[in-house]
Amino acid sequence: MPELPEVETIRRQLAPEITGRRIEGAEVLDERWTRPDPPAAIEAGLTGRRIESVGRRGKYLLLGLDDGATLVMHLRMTGNLLLADAEGEERRLGMDRLYPAATSPPHLRAELALDDGRLLRFTDPRRFGHGHLLGPGELDPYLDSRIGVEPLSEDLTPELIGRIAEGRIVPLKSFLLDQKGIAGVGNIYADEALHRAELHPLSPAGSMRRMHWEALHEGIVEALEEGLRNGGASIDDYRDSRGEQGSMQDEFLVHTREGQECPRCGGRINRIVVSGRSTYFCPECQVRLRRRRRPRARSKR
Ligand SMILES: [Zn+2]
Repeated sequence: MPELPEVETIRRQLAPEITGRRIEGAEVLDERWTRPDPPAAIEAGLTGRRIESVGRRGKYLLLGLDDGATLVMHLRMTGNLLLADAEGEERRLGMDRLYPAATSPPHLRAELALDDGRLLRFTDPRRFGHGHLLGPGELDPYLDSRIGVEPLSEDLTPELIGRIAEGRIVPLKSFLLDQKGIAGVGNIYADEALHRAELHPLSPAGSMRRMHWEALHEGIVEALEEGLRNGGASIDDYRDSRGEQGSMQDEFLVHTREGQECPRCGGRINRIVVSGRSTYFCPECQVRLRRRRRPRARSKR
């Protein structure tokens, strides 16, 4: 499932290619992609508009349009966003793994025809991905009700992690998966961040102290930046906008490495299930914190 580094990789590739382009036609081939909005409304709203920006918040990709509207897309489990050149151009651009514009790739859900002849295509085998067109002023309320702080911004600090975690007994792994706390971290980068922070995934979030907020902050930022340097991780369906795989899966410290040696201490990496998700960690060097007791009203010495 694409997480922040995968979506950001796509954004960085697309931005110079499609910013300034006019959308000459839009076609939604799967009504589920826009649900509950009717596909015709989104097609009409996109057609003729110029793309002014390509942004991202958490795992959401945002195409800002010249009328102040925003096309918000989420790849969910298996969504891919591909930029296809007009037929015959693919090989010249080293994009020969893409389907030429004249043929439809499998699982095509939506397609935007740009004024330079290229096609921006959303493919999605499992159909959980979606696109919504939001009017001027609707974007912030939409995102604010769904996601929390952006982890690679100045807004995320050790103190803020402490405030979000305060009083919470959920395991740290679940805490990191909750998009309303810290946005963009999913199953892969949660494991990698916790290993870097030397924190056990089952530690209650509220049991962290300042030193742990700092370690977790550093772990999250380092894990995401490592993902970005590697163009994301391709352990299932993820491909970048050119149809290429990322290489982060070759750099994992713990994720998917059950039974192998911990790169830090040589311990054996374990796999457990937390919040229904496979979770990988080193039981030797990732400390399991205990739940902090509430201070007693009157202490007996
Ligand atoms: Zn270890």
